[in-house]
Amino acid sequence: MRRVLLLATTTGYQTRAFGEAAARVGVDLVLATDRCSVLDDPWADRAIPIRFSEETESAAAILEAARANPIDGVLAVGDRPTVIAALVQEGLGLPGHPAAAALTARNKLLTRERFHGLGLPVPWFQAVPIATDPRDLAASIVFPCVVKPLALSGSRGVVRVDDETGLVAAIDRLRALLQAPDLRGEPNGAHDIALVEGFVEGREFALEGLMNRGSLHVLAIFDKPDPLDGPFFEETIYVTPSASSVETQQAITAAVDRAARAIGLWHGPIHAECRVSEAGVFVLEVAARPIGGLCAGALRFEQRLDAAFGRPGQSAVSLEELLLRHALGESSDGWERETLASGVMMIPIPRRGVFRGAAGLDAARRVPFVDDVRITAKTDQVLVPLPEGASYLGFIFGRADTADRVEQALRAAHARLEFAISPELRVLQSTHG
Ligand code: ADP
Repeated sequence: MRRVLLLATTTGYQTRAFGEAAARVGVDLVLATDRCSVLDDPWADRAIPIRFSEETESAAAILEAARANPIDGVLAVGDRPTVIAALVQEGLGLPGHPAAAALTARNKLLTRERFHGLGLPVPWFQAVPIATDPRDLAASIVFPCVVKPLALSGSRGVVRVDDETGLVAAIDRLRALLQAPDLRGEPNGAHDIALVEGFVEGREFALEGLMNRGSLHVLAIFDKPDPLDGPFFEETIYVTPSASSVETQQAITAAVDRAARAIGLWHGPIHAECRVSEAGVFVLEVAARPIGGLCAGALRFEQRLDAAFGRPGQSAVSLEELLLRHALGESSDGWERETLASGVMMIPIPRRGVFRGAAGLDAARRVPFVDDVRITAKTDQVLVPLPEGASYLGFIFGRADTADRVEQALRAAHARLEFAISPELRVLQSTHG
């Protein structure tokens, strides 16, 4: 049986979805995960424990393990293991994204520098050591701008700033976030620097794609119908197909294609975010990995021939299945997204507190065109909203004949949900003897 190595940040839903897809494709899935996450790994005894922060050593350990048990394909989920995945692919002679490209894609400053150097549209940008007193910067900054970390994802730490007071607050806040225990100790120095850049106006889109030896196959273009104007950039709804014109979609595809090549991404999944206005398409980033978490559930693919002969759904496969096949060398040509419109809502965390539970799930699931509602927050978990937080309350999925119906269904389902969040009790240390 052929074996695919999956490098996953956590042992979450996406890992399980890959497990199911592997069973369908008939491949053996080998998991390599960060040692810190191994404890809650359902396949603990089978996972290769590595340290995401020690990339060369981790790649060497995997290559060593692969000598005894050969690996036929490699996939990375989440931003952190993408460089290790690329090093392993290079070591095994498998096609993939070059490690240097994965490194650039994962770092917002390197990405900006690359785009700028090659003449691609970029906002002005400035790298600022996080220890800088932000008051010294204000004179050189044009507002509105965006302050962000170099190497986090999911909009974590990203803040829009409109004036000097806001700039000071945002940099102080980012500094505190980057000193959090789960983020300290990253090896690449990326957490010592903040990126300050011009605010790009426009509507936002995401593009999910697969690079096939240098050429881009667009799997989906998602509209993000909620305005993303800050101060924080919570992603909520993704719907596809996009309601934008064919010309706009072509411009998005062309811009992401140029951006992916500029970074050097060559073979494997990509996920890009861009903003579109009269001024053109600004690619904010292209990640060397697929869409994150449960959101992949919004994507299903069919063989083009089936669709042409009106056999929708006959051979529908999940994104995970398509990625596994691709990792084993199959071309993605011939596969395209199902004909139905589809979407997902990442249920935002409305406020900080302790999660006590959710009500209204049945009512939400009964909303026409809603496929599923999944609450992923755990009872008694402390919920942290953006910009510090890194999770959602859950996900709502919908499918319908039009993207507009999907969007309405997601909103209607969300309106039926109620979340109990109680204030967090903080233990205050008494200063009195
Ligand atoms: P992440 O990798 O954490 O998602 P991004 O750089 O993609 O970080 O930023 C997250 C979101 O913040 C984007 O999807 C966008 O909505 C907003 N954003 C980031 N940079 C800018 C910018 N320069 N102008 C306008 N919005 C931005």
